[in-house]
Amino acid sequence: MSFENLSLNPQILTNVKFQGYVEPTPIQKKAIPVVLRGRDILAGSQTGTGKTAAFTLPILNLLAEGKPGGHHPKALILTPTRELAAQVAESVEKYSEGLAVRSTVIFGGVGINPQIQRIKKGLDVIIGTPGRLLDLIYQKALDLSKIQYLVLDEADRMLDMGFIHDIRKIINFVPKKRQTLFFSATYSSEIKSLADTLLNKPEMIEVARQNTAAETVDQGFYRVGKGRKRALLTYLIKSGDWHQILVFTKTKHGANRLAVQLDKDGITATAIHGNKSQGARTRALAGFKENKVRVLVATDIAARGLDIDRLPHVVNYELPLVAEDYVHRIGRTGRAGCEGEALSLVAEDEVKLLQNIEKLMKRKIPLKHAKGFSESEKALEHNAKAKSSIKKKQEGSQYSGDQPKAKRNSAKKKAYPWWKKRKQGKKT
Ligand code: ADP
Ligand code: MG
Repeated sequence: MSFENLSLNPQILTNVKFQGYVEPTPIQKKAIPVVLRGRDILAGSQTGTGKTAAFTLPILNLLAEGKPGGHHPKALILTPTRELAAQVAESVEKYSEGLAVRSTVIFGGVGINPQIQRIKKGLDVIIGTPGRLLDLIYQKALDLSKIQYLVLDEADRMLDMGFIHDIRKIINFVPKKRQTLFFSATYSSEIKSLADTLLNKPEMIEVARQNTAAETVDQGFYRVGKGRKRALLTYLIKSGDWHQILVFTKTKHGANRLAVQLDKDGITATAIHGNKSQGARTRALAGFKENKVRVLVATDIAARGLDIDRLPHVVNYELPLVAEDYVHRIGRTGRAGCEGEALSLVAEDEVKLLQNIEKLMKRKIPLKHAKGFSESEKALEHNAKAKSSIKKKQEGSQYSGDQPKAKRNSAKKKAYPWWKKRKQGKKT
């Protein structure tokens, strides 16, 4: 199926072609006709599946064919982060080239007056984050009474970030008679109840799991001591001659520190996180996209929704505490069918987190080895031996080296059941 089959306006088709899109992605195929028919949708789909065009193209089409003019915005797209808002706005601009559709992006952390001025000039589409939108509504600078199309992008993330009350407040200012498009990668009971209150007989759109990042991305992990992580990362980047790497750390402080250390190792790096000004975040992202900076070190929230074309490498310097975040992180690579690699550096105290991730994804992540960095494994074996020899001393000759091998292995299994399971798993 091509975009031509989707009954879109010829100008929109031209714009889509100009982006180099040949065929609609599965979510686009499913969502676009439903939105054009005026239905609400509740769509579940992973990152990198082309959701932005799935809601933007039909809305632009409806706007372009609807009654022109009017001062107040007709479409409102809510996103969880500033970066995501900026990216969606950029896409809206590209897809609406040559159409009489005016759009702007609204988020906090930058001056409010230019935004007020922009709204005063008249608008069709507003893309924004909840906090600043509410400020503008309360200042009576923004009137949402003419909204016909409401989109919640990454609704699950908005709830995670505590935007539920802001969202509900904003929706009080939007007409009840409207079309609502709701996107979420996961369905908690909270998401369900929000969707129930916002949507009117929605059509459910689920994109098959075969298209998830988890399956298109080449994943692996290294077992490495905490103190050796930076050396291993530097080694992987240099020996693999990697040029664009998104690295995740757990904390803002950790992100800053690692960026400085990598710079010292001769690898250009910048950190991006919530404590940085909007200007600094935009500059960091731009430098990374233009290949001026080799490594972008990010925390989960800052990286959410980042779309960097064909990002080849994602490294989890530290595993996320919440397994779902792993899926979001690796969704930054291998986007829209491109190849990508996601590697994790796993220290002893992160093994449990790794297991949780594997459980969530219902698949094993393969263990990798880097030359010269396998001492952590040796250390493990060594520890196992040490433990059994201590036991041996305590309990007599039960674990002695001259016992049958099977018995020695069972001692190891007791000490490191996870390790043993993995070894068995690898054989099958
Ligand atoms: P999501 O919101 O699902 O994470 P995006 O809308 O950000 O995904 O799209 C991910 C990437 O795929 C973007 O770089 C976008 O330009 C590209 N893309 C979207 N639709 C198509 C398509 N039909 N063909 C090729 N690339 C596409
Ligand atoms: Mg998106």
